[in-house]
Amino acid sequence: MDDSASLTRAEISLEGLSIGDAFGQRFFSIQPNLESLIRNHAVPAAPWNWTDDTAMALSVVEVLRRRRGIDQDALARCFAERYAAEPARGYGATAHQILRDIGLGVPWRQAAGSVFEGSGSMGNGAAMRVAPLGGYFADDLEEVVRQAILSAQPTHAHPEGQAGAVAVAVAAAMAWRMRGSPPELAARAMMEEVRKRTPAGETLAGLERAVTLGTGCDPGTAVAALGNGSRVISSDTVPFALWCAARHLGDFEEALWVTVSGLGDRDTTCAIVGGIIALRVGREGLPVKFLRARETLEPASGSRSSMTRP
Ligand SMILES: [Mg+2]
Repeated sequence: MDDSASLTRAEISLEGLSIGDAFGQRFFSIQPNLESLIRNHAVPAAPWNWTDDTAMALSVVEVLRRRRGIDQDALARCFAERYAAEPARGYGATAHQILRDIGLGVPWRQAAGSVFEGSGSMGNGAAMRVAPLGGYFADDLEEVVRQAILSAQPTHAHPEGQAGAVAVAVAAAMAWRMRGSPPELAARAMMEEVRKRTPAGETLAGLERAVTLGTGCDPGTAVAALGNGSRVISSDTVPFALWCAARHLGDFEEALWVTVSGLGDRDTTCAIVGGIIALRVGREGLPVKFLRARETLEPASGSRSSMTRP
């Protein structure tokens, strides 16, 4: 099977995801006049360094490239290797624990299953890295759902953590599938498919609220109804991110400004939105000045990974 078109989609999404991640993260280091700078679309000075969102997405794409699907052992190993190489990329406390344990040889099911007294993580980390996977499997939505869950499980044992990954992966796939339709129509179809395919729970409840809210209101109203990721869990991150993506599906730059205006977990909300919208607008729709400001991604060969060993 020739999967070059699938890989190209995953790589375009990764570009958008990493730009969003680095853009959003840059606003954590701006203190005075933050909200007025965002309102005026004042582009922050380079460099914009990417964070754990991109590090983990690089691993997802690496596994897709090598295995043409999610091999969970390979993905867990890849996550742990990148973490060990660069632990200061902004990982959350639970991720530190899980990835350190996996690196020490603890089986990933045990490492991911033991956190939060055995209930597993419902954090937004599986959602933040998954958009390229939605691009890769965009031809088959059932496979998008199945592979998204596989990609979440090595770190997110809780169903809510996995639901966030499903929602974002389906949204990413739909952004590509509907790219020929007008943005508003495409956004409605995207949210409808996300609602249909996201497992029941708090994340889905937030997505339902996002659809009811519609995209006509201001971002502050959306944050009040949906959250902004400040709790760093799937259910308070994914609904707002998908609301932003639906509101500006055809305009990458505007989408990121609106997303960052919600503050909260802004590297992650912007990573999710960037990874989705890149699949609609393509490489040529990514703003060059944003791309230049973002720290370069590492070479795509993955040559430092144990996955390349026979
Ligand atoms: Mg981050």
